[in-house]
Amino acid sequence: MTKKLAALKGMRDILPYDIGKWRYAEEAARKLFANFGYAEIRTPILEETALFTRSIGEGTEIVQKQMFSFKDRGERDIALRPEGTAPVVRAYLENGLDMKMPICKLFYIGPMFRSERPQAGRSRQFYQIGVESIGFNSPQADVDVIAVMMKLFEACSLEDAELNINSLGCEKDKKHFEQILKEALAADVKRLCEDCKKRYDKNILRIFDCKNETCRAVLHAAPKVAEHLCPECRMHFEKVREGLTAVGIKYRVEPFLVRGLDYYTGTVFEVTHKNLGSQDAVAAGGRYDGLIQELGGEPTPACGFAVGLDRLMLAAADRIKPQETRIEVFLALLGEEADKLGIKLLKELRGKGVLCETCFGAKSLKSQMRLADRLKVKRVLIIGEDEIAKDIAVLRDMDTKEQKEIKLKDAADTHLW
Ligand SMILES: [Zn+2]
Ligand SMILES: [Zn+2]
Repeated sequence: MTKKLAALKGMRDILPYDIGKWRYAEEAARKLFANFGYAEIRTPILEETALFTRSIGEGTEIVQKQMFSFKDRGERDIALRPEGTAPVVRAYLENGLDMKMPICKLFYIGPMFRSERPQAGRSRQFYQIGVESIGFNSPQADVDVIAVMMKLFEACSLEDAELNINSLGCEKDKKHFEQILKEALAADVKRLCEDCKKRYDKNILRIFDCKNETCRAVLHAAPKVAEHLCPECRMHFEKVREGLTAVGIKYRVEPFLVRGLDYYTGTVFEVTHKNLGSQDAVAAGGRYDGLIQELGGEPTPACGFAVGLDRLMLAAADRIKPQETRIEVFLALLGEEADKLGIKLLKELRGKGVLCETCFGAKSLKSQMRLADRLKVKRVLIIGEDEIAKDIAVLRDMDTKEQKEIKLKDAADTHLW
């Protein structure tokens, strides 16, 4: 027998019986984003590798270990996008969206790729819904971005999702704090795990994301970034917190929340949910006021987030109840004549928007009734040789089990059923 092929490690299918929940979340997002004034953008899945090394940062885990990057046939370095913000900013700059759009608020839905150790809620092809609000530096713009994100969780019956926020401050504050942290941890470097030893030199903030017990113990008394902000950044953070309170969004200040991507500045946030355990964020985002300039544009403030759809699905598994559409009528056709009649009848019914189904070439009525049962259809219309001879069809209501005869010519007139 020929060997069956399987999906790649860490890649998975989203199957028809799960898709309803995915669509539910996606449609809720589209509706909300429209309401908040976001326009959709679709960027390519492949980009130049440099886009990500320059934005996410050379020293980050994503770039170092997780990116699917390779040389194409033209020896160009390309990568499957590991996240959505950098491509959106690239598209924004390349297409001059700042000039073309009066207000530049964008959203995207699509797959991202990271070569991580596969586990629940972490596939190598995973899906994100994200927004980028470009051009606003007001703290209330941060609040607005967080508000639409929290609304999405509400729409997916995850009102109990928890928002954690922090501030990294401006580029200057970040540099300054990295120095403070380096000095504070200098005596303890040898106690850190191997990864953190590397992070200490390359990307020290990332140490806060380590799950190693010893590292966590060392960091327990570490200096807190939000306590070392310049007056302007401190004020911004304060106003974000006030704004969140003003619109009724609960939050917790998480002093060790840093987000490991280089481009984040100022407000950072993440959302966790008890169904996923506290260490796995279901959404994350923040301000990235330096990124647009970093990628060749004018200095432009921006703020955004991405929700991990796979994790959202895990968290909301039993809570999202997509509406089921029920098949209105199943045609139980017996014999070639009935099949011929059936194809015409299907066309007429579908033309009227009636959801109908059949199984051509069926062997017996019994097997068709079983199939109709499994499909949970409302009614079955039985047409066999006997019925055709008598110019009738038998209509059976599957809920009440009542049966009646109708004229064949009336079969497509649903109001006569
Ligand atoms: Zn600052
Ligand atoms: Zn560590």
